[in-house]
Amino acid sequence: MRLEKPLIDPPAISGGTVLFPKGLPLTRPVTPDLDETIEDFRKILGGSTLTNGPFVSRLEKEAAEYFGVRHCVAVSSCTSGLMLLLKAGGVLGDVIVPSFTFAATVHAIVWNGLRPVFADIDPETLTLSPEAVQRAAGLRTSAILATHIYGNPCDVSGLTAVAKKNGLRLFFDAAHAFGSKRAGVAVGAFGDAEVFSLSPTKLVVSGEGGIIATNDEDLARRLRMGRDYGNPGDYDCLFVGLNARMSEFHAALGLRSLEVLEEAVAQRNRLAGHYRTALEKVPGISFPKVRAIDRSTFKDFTILVDAEHFGGSADDLAEALKSEGVETRRYYSPAVHKMRAYRGFSTNGNLSVTDSVVPRVLTLPMFAEMTHEDVQGVAKAIRRIQRSFAGVQVWDPNPFVVPDVEEAAAER
Ligand SMILES: *Cc1c(COP(=O)(O)O)cnc(C)c1O
Repeated sequence: MRLEKPLIDPPAISGGTVLFPKGLPLTRPVTPDLDETIEDFRKILGGSTLTNGPFVSRLEKEAAEYFGVRHCVAVSSCTSGLMLLLKAGGVLGDVIVPSFTFAATVHAIVWNGLRPVFADIDPETLTLSPEAVQRAAGLRTSAILATHIYGNPCDVSGLTAVAKKNGLRLFFDAAHAFGSKRAGVAVGAFGDAEVFSLSPTKLVVSGEGGIIATNDEDLARRLRMGRDYGNPGDYDCLFVGLNARMSEFHAALGLRSLEVLEEAVAQRNRLAGHYRTALEKVPGISFPKVRAIDRSTFKDFTILVDAEHFGGSADDLAEALKSEGVETRRYYSPAVHKMRAYRGFSTNGNLSVTDSVVPRVLTLPMFAEMTHEDVQGVAKAIRRIQRSFAGVQVWDPNPFVVPDVEEAAAER
């Protein structure tokens, strides 16, 4: 058999067919059943408590059971939760934090008048490196705030050891990690406290919201006071708190979302597996490492694009995928220390891994309702974009085939 002529399968950006003409979004929140939600809202409106009432208490109780911790404090967002945690925790001085994270992690430090000390990440897992934390620790350092990036759990034991050795508090921004496990243990119980986000792109969704998990009874009490202005009940405020309460409506949504969490995490892990299988042989594409005994939520499915081997940068790939109707995001680019808001801050040392990772990251669509076929479509798009970038001529997978008469005769 001989192909009539080599045909190329060009990407949409070079005039090929658009693979997702209706568009494929980066994410889509899991939303609860409308009728059940209306029932919840009817109960709330029929009572007299619109905020911080029975639904909030139930959400805190169910979350605490899920994480296996003694206390959960629901708040209005992960950002307010982080701000409040540092305040209620009495943190002073410098806080070691990754620059490869979402801006809110670092904002919470600066809003408290504390100084962020940026430390580098591990090149494989992209989470805060305990060795880098050790190098960054100084006399003024009092705490570590680490992020379970994309839902991939941090090196918790390494960070705990460094924290202990240097007498530092250890906190986690667990915005991505509702449902993550480190060696079988649910994220939520690590360090002094962990803060989760319930905003629409996260795993458990309440519209807006956050949850602080801790085993520290005194800290939990101060957090409850702090989310209510720092008011112990007699309006003689004990410290400068916030209004960071969660409303009953948000808690009702969060409770419904918690019911389907395990299913959502399982589905995202299946999709991540399909992505890896479909993309692992593409030149220049690799993945952040998730240890086999850990569980990531894959809040984001992020790939690393090596421009030299791929034939184009992560930015180039993002643009080409946009032409295919595929929405992507460069999580987390720019790194926080490169943001305009942080230009005046010293980077406090070596961020070479962060600086080398940031130009390569690209987050692909991932949501619980996404199908295996969607993943195959994105992978097909990436493969043909790569071939086009690299100038590889490709045979059409379904070409017009002309029987080779001579060859056929020889076989006979
Ligand atoms: C989303 C996010 C936050 C902020 O969460 P909100 O609930 O929107 O305030 C904080 N940290 C990280 C890592 C996030 O991704």
